Amino acid sequence: ALLLFFWSAAAQGVPPYKDASKDVEVRVRDLLARMTLAEKVGQMTQIERLVASPQVLRDYYIGSLLSGGGSVPRKQATAAEWVAMVGDFQRACLSTRLGIPMIYGIDAVHGHNNVYGATIFPHNVGLGATRDPNLVKRIGAATALEVRATGIQYAFAPCIAVCRDPRWGRCYESYSEDRRLVQNMTELIPGLQGDVPQNFTSGMPFAAGKNKVAACAKHFVGDGGTHDGINENNTIIDRKGLMSIHMPAYLDALRKGVSTVMISYSSWNGLKMHANHNLITGFLKGEHKFQGFTISDWEGIDRITSPPGANYSYSVQASILAGIDMIMVPNNYQDFITILTGHVNSGLIPMSRIDDAVTRILRVKFTMGLFENPMPDPSLADQLGKQEHRDLAREAVRKSLVLLKNGKPGDAPLLPLPKKAAKILVAGSHADNLGYQCGGWTIEWQGDTGRITVGTTLLDAVKAAVDPSTAVVFAENPDAGFVRNGGFSYAIVAVGEHPYTETKGDSMNLTIPEPGPSTIQTVCGAVPCATVLISGRPVVIQPFLGTVHALVAAWLPGSEGQGITDVLFGDYGFTGTLPRTWFKSVDQLPMNYGDEHYDPLFPLGFGLTTQGKKGC
Ligand code: BGC
Repeated sequence: ALLLFFWSAAAQGVPPYKDASKDVEVRVRDLLARMTLAEKVGQMTQIERLVASPQVLRDYYIGSLLSGGGSVPRKQATAAEWVAMVGDFQRACLSTRLGIPMIYGIDAVHGHNNVYGATIFPHNVGLGATRDPNLVKRIGAATALEVRATGIQYAFAPCIAVCRDPRWGRCYESYSEDRRLVQNMTELIPGLQGDVPQNFTSGMPFAAGKNKVAACAKHFVGDGGTHDGINENNTIIDRKGLMSIHMPAYLDALRKGVSTVMISYSSWNGLKMHANHNLITGFLKGEHKFQGFTISDWEGIDRITSPPGANYSYSVQASILAGIDMIMVPNNYQDFITILTGHVNSGLIPMSRIDDAVTRILRVKFTMGLFENPMPDPSLADQLGKQEHRDLAREAVRKSLVLLKNGKPGDAPLLPLPKKAAKILVAGSHADNLGYQCGGWTIEWQGDTGRITVGTTLLDAVKAAVDPSTAVVFAENPDAGFVRNGGFSYAIVAVGEHPYTETKGDSMNLTIPEPGPSTIQTVCGAVPCATVLISGRPVVIQPFLGTVHALVAAWLPGSEGQGITDVLFGDYGFTGTLPRTWFKSVDQLPMNYGDEHYDPLFPLGFGLTTQGKKGC
């Protein structure tokens, strides 16, 4: 029957690019040969959904859409609403002369985090602490399903930055300061895209099946090494250093078939990565034969400011000649399209470069099966935030916790805590705040506060975990008398950083905001207390390290607070280990494992353990 279908397809004059029996490269070449310059330029253009309409997609032959941080059709949009919206856009693309489907990208960086009701997994720093690549792969597979549930086929993940300085606001998006650990965690890629076949050629893009999405290794390269940890800054390091610290994970990503690579805002030794021909075209595509597409970062080309006098027109030329294939414009698409078209017509950009870019984009789309299955699949709706995924997130939280202290010198360990006690206190700004627990890149670009989505806070989790006879009292910031006279058996205090994303998260002092430290002093000064620290990175803890009885680094655990109580109350043991060096004072930064003057408070890999009833 299949043969008959293909035979009749040919007989009815279906062009080779629409013939699924044909080789991807044959289909790409056939389609490319049919395309006008306008159609090619459109394929290279990625625009924000907020400025898009079916009409715009049709008129400009737009190849890709994105939702940038927090850009959603409606705050609590359902999977069905997303599917309808994506479907409308896709139908517009399919109605064009050649019917090339668009690909829709989104920052699903710890689960499908823009979308209300999705499972929110721990941010990468916490996953680094698990040292469990297989867990990360399973998270990738769950994330792919949740992304597909909304009709979207492309995730801007994983961030494989090797963060060398916790002052960087994106440090939590990095699995570790240790490039080997980051390399291991590229397992997110086969999770998102599927496993490459045995005879796979490194560098080919690979994403297969309706339940998988295209992945994006970002930000190429050296984003985690910027001077003083300042976001988008200059990474000053010699080639050997760049190649040995920041590059290895990209080579793993290529071996695992990553479909796309996003270029970094940062510079390397003074040259903006968005204009770095040597690394993008020479190294990545040339030496290492990357065959998927590269994508610019959000308005990334606009930030090419040298040579002096460089304007947008120069930026378009420089970035595309450097080897960027798809431009995340994302708003001012008319300017971009006019300028790029002009550059090709005037010969500033050769048609061969355009053809190369479009070939790569089409290769990804054909490989993914987008031409055969362009439309969202409404039957996946129940994948969004489903229990199995929440259980997986809970497991990830359990494994991500790092126990830094358990009992004062000479005292018995405080953890695990008993589930049965007369009365316990739960305190602190982060104990009942789902938004804080999730951090940046959750619902809003910068993250938010309170019940921003579906999930359990630490307080919810404590209530669910303890014996029914145990009275649980919650006080966000209690005074000393209340704590002293409350008759509490023990307390759980949760404090930490407030959500942040990108530059807004850069911090030169790395202190946690008040009243966090005072809550610790008040509560832990009066009753035995386990302190849970919610933060995207090591922060200053020395002022209260002596006061707390137990201290747990919980990173940014996400929507499943029960993962914390699973371990606090001893159902599972603590197994997480530091994915980063914990500094004594910020004056030491940057300080990474292997440095000559390595004098940490807790070294990379540190983590106390406890026994769990159910294992680890
Ligand atoms: C970030 C990227 C992100 C993009 C799209 C940029 O600001 O640097 O990591 O993928 O926005 O939202």
